[in-house]
Amino acid sequence: MKDQELLRYSRQINLPEFGIESQQKLKNASVVIIGMGALGSISSMYLSSAGVGRIFIVDFDEVELSNLQRQVLYDESDIGKLKVDAAKEKLNLINANVEIVSIHDKATRKNINEIISEVDIVLDGTDNFDSRFLINKSCVQNKKPLISAAITAFEGQILTLKGYERNLPCYECVFPNIGEENNNCVDNGVLAPLPGVIASIQATMCIKLITNFSPAAFNEMILFSGKEIDMRKVKLKKDTDCPVCGK
Ligand SMILES: [Zn+2]
Repeated sequence: MKDQELLRYSRQINLPEFGIESQQKLKNASVVIIGMGALGSISSMYLSSAGVGRIFIVDFDEVELSNLQRQVLYDESDIGKLKVDAAKEKLNLINANVEIVSIHDKATRKNINEIISEVDIVLDGTDNFDSRFLINKSCVQNKKPLISAAITAFEGQILTLKGYERNLPCYECVFPNIGEENNNCVDNGVLAPLPGVIASIQATMCIKLITNFSPAAFNEMILFSGKEIDMRKVKLKKDTDCPVCGK
């Protein structure tokens, strides 16, 4: 690592639980963020500023005026641009040492395995159940850890999952795929800073999985309430009949 990198990351390298080895692990790591809306726009900023070596960003959408209230990676000059283009430009300005690979596409059955097989860890920041189920299934098939997050109104949740392991749940063990339901910001609204809280935890989890500065739990869901400013954890169990990860 160059002197400039040691200086740039000195505040986390100085942490006794972290050190230079962890910084090197971040540099060698490769992650994908699917969905560059509110969650992805914030987690990507922290993962690039922290020095994750290679970050894939996947999104099909353009920046709109109504995004700017919470998707703080973008500004007024980005309206009408592809989110992946605007994001790549900004993330390169944050940290030129990090490689940003932009994929202008929706995650679909056709491309998901190819995208996920390239990386060490997957961050789901999409806003609908169809995408979450698709990403979860591919993570189980490709044996990749998944950090799934969702927000609506004043509430947020984060699940860190390794559903491919024998006793650990996948996303569908927790939220069975019964079709229909589609909670997203367009329908329900969301308070501006809420995704900041949730995406910051998602990025912290990602750095934790890469560096192991503290062991991660793969059988709990973190729930945050922006009304009570309260965070709690719910234990999760594997569903042995789960169509994705069960027998
Ligand atoms: Zn499952």
